[in-house]
Amino acid sequence: MNSYAALGKGDEQLQERKDDRLEGRTTSAGSSTRLDGWQGKLKAEKSGRSNVKFRTNNSIQPGDGLNEMKARLQVMKFGGTSVGDAACIARTAQIIAKAAKESGCIAVVSAMSGVTNRLIEAAKKAQEGNTGEAATVVDVLRKQHEAALTTLIHHENERARIRRCLEEVLAEGRRLCEGTALLCELTPRTLDAISSLGERLSAPLVAAAVRELGLPSEAIEATELIVTDAFHGGAEPHMELTRAKSQARLRPLLEKRIAPVVTGFIGATAAGQLTTLGRGGSDYSATILGAAMDADEVIIWTDVDGVLTADPRLVAEARTIPVISYREAAELAYFGAKVLHPKTLNPVVQAAIPVWIRNSFAPERPGTKITPEGRSIGGGVKALTAIRDVTLISVGGPGIVGLPDVLGRTFSTTAEVRANVLLISQSSSQNDICFIVATVDAQRTVEALRKEFAQDLAHHKVEHITVDSNVAIVAVVGENMRGTPGIAGKTFNALGRENVNLIAIAQGSSECNISFVIEEQAVKTALITTHREFGLDASPS
Ligand code: ADP
Ligand code: ASP
Ligand code: MG
Repeated sequence: MNSYAALGKGDEQLQERKDDRLEGRTTSAGSSTRLDGWQGKLKAEKSGRSNVKFRTNNSIQPGDGLNEMKARLQVMKFGGTSVGDAACIARTAQIIAKAAKESGCIAVVSAMSGVTNRLIEAAKKAQEGNTGEAATVVDVLRKQHEAALTTLIHHENERARIRRCLEEVLAEGRRLCEGTALLCELTPRTLDAISSLGERLSAPLVAAAVRELGLPSEAIEATELIVTDAFHGGAEPHMELTRAKSQARLRPLLEKRIAPVVTGFIGATAAGQLTTLGRGGSDYSATILGAAMDADEVIIWTDVDGVLTADPRLVAEARTIPVISYREAAELAYFGAKVLHPKTLNPVVQAAIPVWIRNSFAPERPGTKITPEGRSIGGGVKALTAIRDVTLISVGGPGIVGLPDVLGRTFSTTAEVRANVLLISQSSSQNDICFIVATVDAQRTVEALRKEFAQDLAHHKVEHITVDSNVAIVAVVGENMRGTPGIAGKTFNALGRENVNLIAIAQGSSECNISFVIEEQAVKTALITTHREFGLDASPS
């Protein structure tokens, strides 16, 4: 357990990357290496770290490459399955310790898998006044974390110290649930406080497991680092404030070669109120911190080998994509590829920081590199994705023809309720506007629309506002689809052969994506058919 032997192959890969750097064919946006595209220059200037600085401080001699390695900074995020139990945490701790030995490393961790779901369930039970069930959930969480603690930490004093720290978080959870049950009210702010507990439990465990390997490490709550707006459940970072706080808190630790282990998923308003970044938001935490700390790369460690040509749970033949562009990866994430939170790439685009997706269960594998440009692999289509928990809303009726500004009113209403509109389609006669939102946003969107169009509904200018949640969006994504004719035709022919009925179609002006709405039950067939049609099962892995 205490050796890095299991990561031996990773060493080779690291050496290879190091060689790449010295030869100038870089695989990372290191401060002293050539970067992918012009944005890289911008990053090096902004971070104030340059080739010259390193060269003047260190004379060139054997081991010079190592000095460069030490100056590098990696932000590594570990998802729920990567910290799912003691064995997973031990593997994760090894990856962190190895990286921290070689360069600066900031770890960002999710809650142990399933924990956030359980916490939300506890909050909902408390809201119904059911304190018993909420307390049971807290108890289950105690046992789960205690089991990991016992396996991972061998010194009794250290174990007792971490236990006290976990108990404090659990007690806070109990109090929050009791308060909720008392009022039978669950505000978004309280829901954030409860759902954030998982990360606040896992970070101290992971930091302790890193220390167990002999490397100094400290658990840090992201409320001390990431400053957000007050939109609970989906807060947005304020990057300048976040940069100032993160640099002030984390730089001194890095200088002392202490590896910070930061809670993913959470932040706080400028006034100190805890917020969350949205489900799956730890990926976003990692790139927010990567940008704020001028990291050389962000590595998202998960339970698959990288970004695959399709969700492997639905398409068994899916292959790992070695290199993909920000735009392609962002389209995939936006249209439901769970491997990346949809906002993950936003913070790193300007500084052109590469993002890797790698498998914490097989760290020797190279994973996927997400870069500003990606790499053309011909054929156009690079991957497919589907998003299932979506609802089709349509506003229409013959009366809306000529009704002023129906589109404007519809979409300012969706914006007001912060519903993310994933796809829009309007019939040419203009008597129907259909659009898709996430199902979680559907009810409040429809209520807001009914309010906005109340007068028009009463006077039959708008005849219906209807909802269909039995749908899904499938997206065909690839940067090189631009200028490759026939992709839409090929897709729709294949779907026609399989009797998949198309409800709506949209192609963004970027031509990086063709997306279509189908019945939810046809998703698997649609993905498998399209995957084969474009030969994605045979793409290089
Ligand atoms: P983590 O807990 O590490 O954040 P997630 O469960 O959020 O991991 O995301 C990883 C999962 O995303 C994979 O196990 C896989 O099932 C799913 N997934 C969906 N689409 C893709 C894709 N195109 N490539 C890779 N994984 C995908
Ligand atoms: N634990 C949070 C969730 O399950 C955040 C994350 O895992 O990224 O949504
Ligand atoms: Mg995730």
